[in-house]
Amino acid sequence: MRIVVLSGGVGGSRFVRGVREAIHRATDEPWAGAALDVIVNTGDDWWLAGLRIAPDHDSLLYTLSAQNDEARGWGRVGESERVSSELHAYGVAPEWFTLGDLDLGTHIARSAWLRAGETPSEVARRLGARWPLGATLHPATDTEVDTHVVTTNGERLHFQEWWTRHRASLPVERFEQNNIADAAPSPGALSALAAADVVLLAPSNPVVSIGTVLAVPGMRDAVLSAGPSGSAPVVGVSPIIAGAAVRGMADACLTAIGVDTDAAAVGRHYGARGSGGLLDAWLIGEEDAALVNGLIADGLDTRAVPLWMRDLDTSAALAAAALAAAGEHARA
Ligand code: GDP
Ligand code: CA
Repeated sequence: MRIVVLSGGVGGSRFVRGVREAIHRATDEPWAGAALDVIVNTGDDWWLAGLRIAPDHDSLLYTLSAQNDEARGWGRVGESERVSSELHAYGVAPEWFTLGDLDLGTHIARSAWLRAGETPSEVARRLGARWPLGATLHPATDTEVDTHVVTTNGERLHFQEWWTRHRASLPVERFEQNNIADAAPSPGALSALAAADVVLLAPSNPVVSIGTVLAVPGMRDAVLSAGPSGSAPVVGVSPIIAGAAVRGMADACLTAIGVDTDAAAVGRHYGARGSGGLLDAWLIGEEDAALVNGLIADGLDTRAVPLWMRDLDTSAALAAAALAAAGEHARA
């Protein structure tokens, strides 16, 4: 069995770690021993101090290799910031963006390989080869599609500046991805989807993580026709519980595209396959169980399950619930 997950950074990596654990723990379930591919959002990537930074990829890399700082929730464990204080002193990197010393090692390696002519896909393979990740990470696209925010004042700034410096506080007119019309899914993303038995949408930001992955021309069709006979079910997991984003500011992104911060609204935003959307099934929190019947009446198979990924057990149980829902939608 092959499982493909579409993912952003922090929320996505917790979920992907849960999927990996569910695969390990399974005995009789069809996903025992499954292969795991992750299609990673690249919209948050940017150039800083001459270095290519890929925050969502690196969140996955560090989480799956157990190099992440569990207490802080992001970055490398045992991190220091000696180099970054030098960069700040020279005015080369902004004070509001943390560049840890160990993390800089990853950025330097990535940038060196890119400058030597390798694609982001090849770079991801090289970075991932260092540790046994139990998953293959594929950038959604090899084209630079950095997300930009156009504010209601007409200012255009890189997503990182809006998100990290301004804490998503500037009102958004729209999000734009550079070069998006010319982008195509990475070869690894396409071959993973072509071989997939199940596609899962991680409980990542629906706008600037999953939305950006799906905005790559050809990606949405590849998801909808995933699997050797085009029949892989697609199951989404809500990042919104009880009307709020868990850890983070996803509400600012949803508001910007006119979607309520609500598990039902996000489910309708992705949409049911039967009515032109993406999803065969949608998982929402037990806190939102009252929304289930309305969504089912709209044609979206919705289940209320424990949605908080507190630790490996709860993450693996959530992943297993998503895989079980997919199993019920397996089309011959
Ligand atoms: P980012 O790229 O680092 O912003 O991370 P993602 O886009 O992958 O995920 C961000 C989303 O993860 C946020 O909108 C949160 O609501 C969601 N999230 C974080 N922790 C949890 C959790 O324990 N359960 C669920 N269901 N969602 C979570
Ligand atoms: Ca991100």
